[in-house]
Amino acid sequence: MAVKPKKAGAAQQEDLNFNHIVSQQFDRAAEALESPKALLTQIKVCNNLFSVQFPVKTKNGLMVVKGWRAEHSHHKKPLKGGIRYDEHVNADEVMALAALMTYKCAIVNVPFGGSKGGIQINPRAHSEDTMERITRRFTFELASKNFIGPGINVPAPDMGTGEREMSWIADAFSALTPTGIDNLACVTGKPISQGGIQGRREATGRGVQYGIREAMQDKKALKQMGLTAGLAGKTVAVQGFGNVGYHAATLLHDEDGCTIVGLSEWDGTIVNPKGLNPHKVAEWRTEHGTILGFPGAKSIKNPLAVLEVECDILVPAALENQITMANADKVKCRLLAEAANGPTTPGGEAILLKKDIYILPDIFLNAGGVVVSYFEWTKNLTHMRFGRMEKRMRELDQRLLLDGIEHMIDRKFEARLREQLSHQMSELELVRSGLEDTMVTAYQEIRDIFFKRKKVTDMRTAAFVCAIQKVAASYRSLGIFP
Ligand code: GLU
Repeated sequence: MAVKPKKAGAAQQEDLNFNHIVSQQFDRAAEALESPKALLTQIKVCNNLFSVQFPVKTKNGLMVVKGWRAEHSHHKKPLKGGIRYDEHVNADEVMALAALMTYKCAIVNVPFGGSKGGIQINPRAHSEDTMERITRRFTFELASKNFIGPGINVPAPDMGTGEREMSWIADAFSALTPTGIDNLACVTGKPISQGGIQGRREATGRGVQYGIREAMQDKKALKQMGLTAGLAGKTVAVQGFGNVGYHAATLLHDEDGCTIVGLSEWDGTIVNPKGLNPHKVAEWRTEHGTILGFPGAKSIKNPLAVLEVECDILVPAALENQITMANADKVKCRLLAEAANGPTTPGGEAILLKKDIYILPDIFLNAGGVVVSYFEWTKNLTHMRFGRMEKRMRELDQRLLLDGIEHMIDRKFEARLREQLSHQMSELELVRSGLEDTMVTAYQEIRDIFFKRKKVTDMRTAAFVCAIQKVAASYRSLGIFP
């Protein structure tokens, strides 16, 4: 996890309100579009904000807990987005994150509106029992105001939440609606045993990997970055070693041959230009409660120091507002891969763009989580595992095809090759291939807008243009706007 930047020095001139920042990014894209003003306003504003406070019994007495669920856009239903448990979360942040969910879903063609929830609490400071009671009560509050349901609004994990919380939500919701046959689809990111899907936990990190891979094969983008194609041997620094940062780092290291030169957590940064093994770093953290002190690496007590590490690719995978006017000129990467939501402020971004740093914006790059959530939701609604109906038929088709080829060439395939050719994809393989295809298609759409469209001078604006056009088309198809 990262730190909230101090409001000092250059950063003081900057408006760090996350909601204002997302609005500014939207406005920049709206200038490149010719949509009617009312339509743009409808897309931009947050439709509903549910805000709640409730008392919870803890072993230290009663505590009043604050929570929110923002519904940004209803152009598609259900609405979708995670629930964040963090002591700093607030209404503005939740509304900004809900807006990003709308744009994210549009970019990756996932038919959901955007939403986000938050509970103002530090989950590490409370017992499992207290967290369970808070989660169940929050679910009850959401249900009583129609802010949760398989066709209404479907939460998922976010910072401070995971499979455990999602299983409590699913169970609490099912208890409230005992006759609902689609109850499992009221939340995604559940444990596999409770209707979850293979590959959801790593999904955001994997989406980040696929997005980066695509950019690193794009000749025009590479020219701007001044880098050679491919990922093998590229140096990478990752801010944040939570679910997203951990998976992005391990996948880029294990599967693409990247050298991880810097990693950070809330209490500091570790650097080693020769490379860090992220699995070993995770083991060290389990043993010592911190990544600091990792053998062979330089430990720096400043968590923001990772942003200044010399590297080809910088992956901020922690909080919003990390790269600001105060530190952007010290960023040394050539590709900024925004795995977190809102890690770069507009002031920080302007500095990066002057240095020709290529940016993969959050609303594209971290969409992997919601893409796989969409697969999970679909699986829950069909009440059937993927491929159940067509598996045998596919096997038969494959067999006939291979027999036919063998007959034509008058030769038999080797047993192993035959086995490989007739392989049927598992759920995990289907999820990965669906995610890869989605990220590749979305990248191509955005980069085409960036490189080909007048008035669009950066990738974030291109991503917003792509999203706004799609949401606008949905509103038009509903017959509300001409
Ligand atoms: N919290 C994740 C995000 O910000 C996942 C949302 C979802 O799966 O609905 O994209």
